[in-house]
Formats: sequence, structure tokens, C-alpha cells
Amino acid sequence: MPELRTVTTHCPYCALQCGTQLTRERRGVSVRPTDFPVNRGGLCQKGWTAPSLLEVDDRIRRPLVRRDGALQPASWDTALEVIADGIRRVRGAHGPDAVGVFGGGGLTNEKAYLLGKFARLALGTSRIDYNGRFCMSSAAGAGIAAFGLDRGLPFPVTDLAGADVVLLAGANPAETMPPLMQHLRAPDLVVIDPRRTATAEQAALHLQPQPGTDLALVLGLLHIAVVDGWTDADYVRERTTGREQAWQRAMTWWPERVERVTGVPVTAQRRAVRMLAEAERCYVLTGRGAEQHAKGVDTVSGFINLALALGLPGREGSGYGCLTGQGNGQGGREHGQKADQLPGYRAITDQAAREHVAAVWGVRPELLPGPGLSAYELLDSLGTEDGPRALLVFGSNPVVSAPNAGHVTERLRSLELLVVADFVPSETAELADVVLPVTQWAEEEGTMTNLEGRVLRRRRLQVPPEHARSDLEVVHGIATRLGEPGHRYPTRPREVFEELRRASAGGRADYSGISYDRLDAGEALHWPCPDAEHPGTPRLFLDGFAHPDGRARFVAVDHRDAADATGPAFPLTATTGRVLAQYQSGAQTRRVAELAEAAPGGFVEVHPDTADRNGLAEGALAKITSPRGSAVAEVRLVPTMRTDTVFLPFHFAGESRANLLTGDALDPSSRMPEFKVSAVRIEPHREV
Ligand code: SF4
Repeated sequence: MPELRTVTTHCPYCALQCGTQLTRERRGVSVRPTDFPVNRGGLCQKGWTAPSLLEVDDRIRRPLVRRDGALQPASWDTALEVIADGIRRVRGAHGPDAVGVFGGGGLTNEKAYLLGKFARLALGTSRIDYNGRFCMSSAAGAGIAAFGLDRGLPFPVTDLAGADVVLLAGANPAETMPPLMQHLRAPDLVVIDPRRTATAEQAALHLQPQPGTDLALVLGLLHIAVVDGWTDADYVRERTTGREQAWQRAMTWWPERVERVTGVPVTAQRRAVRMLAEAERCYVLTGRGAEQHAKGVDTVSGFINLALALGLPGREGSGYGCLTGQGNGQGGREHGQKADQLPGYRAITDQAAREHVAAVWGVRPELLPGPGLSAYELLDSLGTEDGPRALLVFGSNPVVSAPNAGHVTERLRSLELLVVADFVPSETAELADVVLPVTQWAEEEGTMTNLEGRVLRRRRLQVPPEHARSDLEVVHGIATRLGEPGHRYPTRPREVFEELRRASAGGRADYSGISYDRLDAGEALHWPCPDAEHPGTPRLFLDGFAHPDGRARFVAVDHRDAADATGPAFPLTATTGRVLAQYQSGAQTRRVAELAEAAPGGFVEVHPDTADRNGLAEGALAKITSPRGSAVAEVRLVPTMRTDTVFLPFHFAGESRANLLTGDALDPSSRMPEFKVSAVRIEPHREV
């Protein structure tokens, strides 16, 4: 493919997928925002500096194979042979589930699709999952239970601008996706967040609960809505089922009890409900703050119950949605790189789905393995009797991003074969036996699906470095060395997408009517889009929900404590999150000079009184310890923090890793880890 001077594409980072135009200038690549609806000429600092990713100093430029304890340059043939040999050896000794695959929510739709097919056919393993499990799985589970379908936002982002009130529960878009804020200027914001974030600063009302108590809070809001007569009786009767049990649970959460548990005053609870209920047009949105809990699904169900009681979902100008985080957080969960799913967002246990996908793949359905292990369980099992002895990692950096990171690092070290495909030497790549240099973003073609279910074209501006290959070529190379027919693993993105269309046909996320030609012609296509004439579906549920009876479900939920209890040894709660200038594990953004300057390292936000009590000063180093381990971070005194809570961003490596503190408690259904609540103590750090 020839190099182009300019292309219209999208930012490489978050789920907003801001529209950009890239131009090759004499001094490198320049970027400018386009008028794409989600960003309308805006970009955040990450988007403006994205071209620097194409020039990072330590780009991986050759395959690397570990010899005599060190990673050393090797040819692609040698690297792929080492991988194939390792897989054959491990599989021969321990069976197909001894090989695992760990994918990523930043991979294109084509890569996510081919990875799932590769794992199940070429490797024959059930052990595939991806880092999106850590991101959106609780909202996905709750959305499917309530509506029969999960699409982050079942309406376009631009609809938010027409709202009177928007409730943001555990979301901080002013830092995580700033261009979204232009759609939130007109509505009054009600923000639920234990921190006074940049978003909370702009809110008409900020509720600041203790971390881990969002579910108690939203049960209390539902209680007030019901008791004070704010519910939409006609909507509830005509469009929902399951009200009785769900409302009954909320009846025990009277406002004073909620204040005792959450710390949110009764007056603020009442004001929040009044604002939401009196609004003509109103949205309830959740983010990771509400979702990353061992009760994440129930917490999101609590917010959906409130939205249903107020008559919001499936009504024009109102609704419920989840602000997905990763670049392809939406598409990444639809095409089969998840342990329990096949393409088309179908359950892997569904016999009809297995038959459909097996027919597209040209194999018998019984050849497809069953459900595997969720992301944390997969990582936790590495190197154990029943766990994988070999792991292939694509587009992920679990050494930094996984919970209980010290333990996960040890499990990765215990593998007989660790393969990492990446374009930068991430902390996980540093542990690998084989590192494969892959193409990135502006060097490849493909599609992404943004947080509103709109399928977008990622376009190639320039040729990749000499020895870099796309993840699709990597999959093809390993599969063929394992004896698979090459045509089963196409390397051209357009060809993979054509197959993905057929595999998704009739599924929840039906892409069968979407094509590169339609996208390149400028059509705005949101799935489901079941045929080539279909205009796509920007707004879901207006005529009914996706359950067979067309009604949404209230789900009866109740509050329970977080897995970690504070006490004398660990008197504080640590919560984690993101900052404006960094993205996810930071493997990419920590290498961009402007971003590294803006957010150079780990820090811990502490209330001044808490700092006083613990002998901490602004700018000094603190040691934060949980039952899992310790992290070291620079103290920032923040008077708006709760005195019982500290906050750490999770983008940083080494001893600043916030995930050295987080635990392995998982949501019973989504298997989401409890990133947002860890019991800790904090003290001055003393060098030893
Ligand atoms: Fe990129 Fe997200 Fe920033 Fe937009 S908001 S420029 S997609 S990181």
C-alpha cells in the first residue's frame, strides 16, 4: 500500500474515538481534529500528541527472543518457530488448555475477531480473555439483564447536549475524555464520586460517597423516588417487569440509613432525586467508579433500576448508558476474544450460536471449546497444575493494569512460554520469552467501534518500520506453523471484516450490513445493521427492549460491603483512577514527552488532616500498604478528599503501581475485580 500525505482517521486512545486528520509533513506527522460529531473540532492533550507515538525512541524494531536470560534480536522465522515449538511442547504435555491468549480492548475489530478464532481453532483452547474484562464487564452484564442487549451508549453522544440533567456515576470525563464535556455544557450535572474531580467541579450537585457504597446510595435514591412519588407509573407499567422485588429491596434503604453508610447527607439525596425526576430530558450514565467492584453488576443494576423507575431508558432525549473506556472497548467485547463469547456478541454456550459460527469457520461445532476463564482467573491460574503454561499477549500490559499486580507478575514469571506482541517494550514485554514488533494505529487499516456503537474506519497514513508486522500477520504466522490452513487466518483487514460480518449475522451485535465501502462513503453506521440497505441503529430501545416481550427488567439488588474491610491495620480506603495526560497502563503515553512532563509519575491524593495524622507532607514520598503489598507515591494534599480515602492513578510502573494494592475479589457474574476499594494504611516512605 502506498504512503498517503493525509488521512482521515481517529485517535488511537479512548472510546470516544475523536475524529482526526493526520498529515505527513517534512518534520513528521501533524494532527488536527475533524468535525466528527463526538469531538466537533476538539481533542484532548493525548489526542494532540498522538503523532509522537509514531516516533517513540524505544520502539520495538525487531523480533526478540530470550537467550541466556536476555532478549536478543532474531528473525521473524526464528521467533515464530520458537513460539510454535513452545506451543507444541506445552500442548503435547498438558493439553490444549495449557496455552492461553490475553487480548485487549484497544485491538481493532478485525484483530479481536481473528484472535478469538485463532484461540479456538488453531490452539483449540478455551483459555482466552482480555483486558476489557477489567473495564466494561459489569455494565455489560447489567445492561444485558435489564435490556436484553448491551451497547455502551444506546444513543449518540450528541443527544446528551439536549438533556436538562445528566447523572454521572463514577465517571470523570473532564479528565478521561474531555471533548465529551462540550455535550454536557447545557445540562445540569449530578456527579457521584468519592473525589471532587474536575467533572465534579462543574456539577450542579456533587454527591461524595465513601468508596464501595454507590449501591447503597442508589438504593436510597430509588427509595426516595418511590416513597415521594417521583416515579413514572405509566412507563413502569407498560415498559418494564420485575418492579415489586426491586422496589421492595430499596424500601430498607431509607435516607438516614443511606447517610450513615455512604456519608451523603439526606438533603443532597433528596435534591438529586428531585433534579432527575423534574427534568424533562434526563440521562443516567455510569463509569468505572460504579462498575469496578465485586458487586459491580448489582451496582449498575441499581442505577438502571433508578433510570427505569423514572421512565428514562428507550425514551427519546433520555436514557441510561455506560461510558466505555478503552479505544475499542465496545467492539472488543463483541467479536469473540472474551472467554464466554463468540462473534456477534453471542454466548459460547448457545448451541445455535456455535453452529452458526462453526459454519462460517468451516468446522464442526463440537470442535469449538466451551467457556474459558475470566481475565483475572486466567492470569491467576498461569503456571499452575490446571492453568496455561504458555500465554500469548496482544495489546495488553497486565503487569501494570491487572489487580493484585505483584501476584500476577509472579504468575507471568512462572510460565514456560510468554509471548508479547506490542510496539513498545511494556513492563509485560520485559518478562517475555518472545517479543514481536507489531504495527500501530496510523500504520494499519481496520475498524473500531466507539462508545455509541458506531463503527469507524482506522486508516493507514504511513508504512510501518521495516520489521513490524500487523497482529493479523502474527496470528497467521503462528497458526500456519501449527499446521492450520493459511486461508483460515486472512491478513488483509478488509477480508477479515467481511468474514466478521458473516459471523456476526443474526447476533446481538449484527455487523452484517456494514462494509468498508459504506464506511468509506461516509455513512454513520451504528450496529445493529443487519443488511446492506439498513441505515444502522443510532438509538436503541425506542420501540421496545431486546427481551422477547419488549419490556425492560428491574433486577432486585441489595448493598453488601466491599471485600476489603478497613480496621486498625488498614484504616483507610484506597481508590484508583485515571488522569488527563495518561492512558490505561501508560505503556504508550508514558513515552510521549509532553504527556510524561504533564503527568510524570505516581502520586497519592490525601486530605491534609489525614496527612497530618500519618506524618505526611506535600511532595514527600508515602508508602501505601494493603493486604496484598505496598506502593510508593508522591503525596499530594487535596482538601476536597474524604478524610477516610486516598486516591492513586493506575498508569504508572514499578513501585508506583497502584495495582500492587488492589485485590482479587471478583464480581460473581461479570468477574470484574474490585479495583475501586482496597483497605490500606499510609506512612512516610523511608529508603532502605
Ligand atoms: Fe483521544 Fe479520547 Fe482524548 Fe478524544 S478524548 S482525543 S479519543 S484520548
